[in-house]
Amino acid sequence: MYSNIEAKVALAKCRESRKAYGVRFEKTSIGWMYNWAFTLSEDRAKAEKYGTTKLKGVIYPDDEYPGCPYCGARSFVVCGTCGKLNCNNTDEKVVTCEWCGAKGELTDYEGDGIDSSGDV
Ligand SMILES: [Zn+2]
Ligand SMILES: [Zn+2]
Repeated sequence: MYSNIEAKVALAKCRESRKAYGVRFEKTSIGWMYNWAFTLSEDRAKAEKYGTTKLKGVIYPDDEYPGCPYCGARSFVVCGTCGKLNCNNTDEKVVTCEWCGAKGELTDYEGDGIDSSGDV
């Protein structure tokens, strides 16, 4: 069973701590389930090329997902400009992307794809 699992790690950034962390996604029949988050240094992220992960489709948390290692957020805001993940830990309507600085209205992610490529 385990050998068929397709898993990827994407980078997310925490709005509270302004630090990056890795999120592990597993491919399922309905999309990508994320089930683990872990802190990592930016050097390690670059060495492992986590920043080049691309995912397409619906993302959703596993029941066991521990949340952001810094603030505990269990969901993400996907930036409409750069496509990267930010912690969804605010009630504000307008969020600023920690990656590219773009400001935007908070919208629900609809599976357009995540692109975490580029420099951390
Ligand atoms: Zn966070
Ligand atoms: Zn962005």
